[in-house]
Amino acid sequence: MDQSLVEELRATLSGARAWLSEWLEEGVEAPATFGAAARSATVDLFQPARSGPRPSLEQVREHLGECTRCPLSTGRSTIVFGDGNPDADILFIGEGPGAEEDRRGLPFVGRAGELLTRMIERGMGIPRSQVYICNIVKCRPPGNREPAPNEIASCRPFLDEQIDAVAPKVIVSLGRPATGVLLGRDVSITRLRGVWQDYRGIPVMPTFHPAFILRQYTEENRRLVWQDLKAALARASGAA
Ligand code: URA
Repeated sequence: MDQSLVEELRATLSGARAWLSEWLEEGVEAPATFGAAARSATVDLFQPARSGPRPSLEQVREHLGECTRCPLSTGRSTIVFGDGNPDADILFIGEGPGAEEDRRGLPFVGRAGELLTRMIERGMGIPRSQVYICNIVKCRPPGNREPAPNEIASCRPFLDEQIDAVAPKVIVSLGRPATGVLLGRDVSITRLRGVWQDYRGIPVMPTFHPAFILRQYTEENRRLVWQDLKAALARASGAA
């Protein structure tokens, strides 16, 4: 099938998913044709089902290739695929590479990344190399703007495959865009942070993005993120 048609279908599906999710939140029942099982398993309806065996990260990277599926490819220096332990218990998902990440080909290595690394290593007490870190888009959005829906939709299959490959016990979604993409709907990160969510059976802990913490470096914001990370660590280690 024509690649642009595939991309368009993917974006349409993603939009439909967000609408359905909102309706359900507002108490609108899933249509009868979905059946009772579907109505009671709404989460599965709105998140792409995994088919086939668990891929390896190498296979996912190969599938991504020298991607030109969306316009972000024209401005990037490097694809920032992901970094860390392929069998990590904890997977962090951010928004998109910044300038330093684009230059080095690694996620979260700029200022926000340094803070994230400190939170993981000093706060959670585990080496950064023990977790896995990636972003919802793999190429830098110009001027560090938020990724656009078509860019997110183009990258989405690779994010889903990465999650399948790592099969973490817990996902920590960093900020509103990453959390919204995972849950398939617009979210308020202020309302949702600290509240367990679900992505295809994997517990998701939404928390503030480290760039937000850098901008609003208050004791309260740091306390809240620390609380979320502690909860994620406890859940991943089976203590909660
Ligand atoms: N660096 C990343 O890799 N992702 C972000 O979301 C921010 C900075």
